Amino acid sequence: MKVILLGVSLLLLTLVIPPQSAADIVFKNGNVYTANDKSAKAQAIAVKGDKIVFVGTNEAAQKFVGTNTRVIDLKGNTVLPGFTDAHQHLSGVGQREMTLNLEGTTSLQDLLAKVKARVDQAQPGQWITGRGWIETHWEPSVFPTRWDLDTVSPNNPVILGRADGHGAVANSAALKLGGVDKSTPNPFGGEISKDKNSGEPNGMLLDSAQGLVRRRVPPTTRADEERAVELGVKRDIELGWTQIQDAGGSFADVDIFKKLYAAGTIKLRIYKAVYGPGPNASRLMNEGPTIGAFGNRLTVRTIKVVSDGALGSRGAALLGPYSDAPATSGFLTVKVEELRPMLVEALRKGIQVETHAIGDKANRFILDEYETALKAVPASERKVAEPRWRVEHAQIVNPADIPRFAKLGIIPSMQPSHAIGDLFFAPSRLGIERLAGAYAWESFIKSGVVVPGGSDAPVERGEPMIEFYAAVARKDQKGFSGEGWHPEEAVTREQALKMFTIWPAYAAFEEKLRGTIEVGKLADFTILSADIMTIPAPEILKTCNVMTVINGEVVYEAS
Ligand SMILES: [Zn+2]
Repeated sequence: MKVILLGVSLLLLTLVIPPQSAADIVFKNGNVYTANDKSAKAQAIAVKGDKIVFVGTNEAAQKFVGTNTRVIDLKGNTVLPGFTDAHQHLSGVGQREMTLNLEGTTSLQDLLAKVKARVDQAQPGQWITGRGWIETHWEPSVFPTRWDLDTVSPNNPVILGRADGHGAVANSAALKLGGVDKSTPNPFGGEISKDKNSGEPNGMLLDSAQGLVRRRVPPTTRADEERAVELGVKRDIELGWTQIQDAGGSFADVDIFKKLYAAGTIKLRIYKAVYGPGPNASRLMNEGPTIGAFGNRLTVRTIKVVSDGALGSRGAALLGPYSDAPATSGFLTVKVEELRPMLVEALRKGIQVETHAIGDKANRFILDEYETALKAVPASERKVAEPRWRVEHAQIVNPADIPRFAKLGIIPSMQPSHAIGDLFFAPSRLGIERLAGAYAWESFIKSGVVVPGGSDAPVERGEPMIEFYAAVARKDQKGFSGEGWHPEEAVTREQALKMFTIWPAYAAFEEKLRGTIEVGKLADFTILSADIMTIPAPEILKTCNVMTVINGEVVYEAS
């Protein structure tokens, strides 16, 4: 009798719903974390169009179920606000899938075997390009040389980027095509690594020196570039990313995104930066930003500056010499006379600036430059009073400079996986004392800033679960933590959730639009197989994305 009554009352409920208040999708039986401090948990969400119209209990959600509503039973799966990768290189992620992918290479021999397999299939003279090796994971941990590569590729030119993109190794055939020999001077912002005894280039090219050889590689076609974006987007949404903040590039990339959005081929949100100082930055300042095109999917309002290299290749600019190479302290890669007028113009025209800064010298340099520009253009003369300028990486920061971020309103955009990879070699590069301000997530948060989290893929693998784990565990994927790793800089689960949701939304001026699960916000969700807010940390790495929702549309569903 009870069952019948319940059935009848449910039927009545369904019938009395005015069609205009019925939702398109109702998610039920979820373990929902909203990232909204006022009501942190929920069971159900109703979505109409691209927006969230209800967050609450299963029972109360029932009133949004109409005849055409799709009801998705989440069976206890965990729902989070759609994850954002605050620092990624989208086409690089796609290109990694298309060229020789050297992620996870275990030794020099392993690298050479992979190259040999490629060379065996190549046409005479065809270039072999690839990316992803990290020699610090090898035993012994030494950079590969041109002579190593020559043993497997004596004729085909080869250039293979280190995962961080700040160094590459080329073989003799490639160096010859690039015109690089004993007498070639280092270009600005780069270094041609030389053999200590003979003075011959040993094949390692750092930062801008890579260009000497790379410009000889036949350019990729527009079709290749579109394919790379499609592959990158496919991988990202499968992993559960709903937005990526694309840390640099050109208007040619923007044109590709526009074409693919217009054709409905890509659904991922992209918050795009273009490189500056230079023609792309000038064009952005002249034409003005693009905000929220294609259903709030595409925004272009940011200039990306690169102020130094990376720690692994000793290109990061340090205040003192490297502990393991006292003759060098790295180098800055931006010209002050070009940067300064660009920063002032960006403030006047309402353009956001984000700057790659790894070493403590680069971080101090860019804080100084930002501060000078902010003083020169007071809020009343800025198009956007609160410009939310960012420092990408903010990796090695002198502890005295950490509070300056909050004081100046500068956002440190950081990548947890860098710490758990770099901390294997950072102690030798920097010495134990300089690690006090290294990868200092918790110190930054306590100082009063938000810390958007990113992966920097393809520098790292680009997986949200690796990033979330790294942020909360601050141990490598096997659970290792060594001297100088500063475990107290790990963040709480709640902070980590914000690092990949509401904080990157804030860093993109989108905190009112997305980043939490709240009525009125865009319906972006990352739905996981386990509760990463409570399970033991190692289990986070085994957690899978089961569904990705962007703009109220299920764009990926695990089979
Ligand atoms: Zn990057």
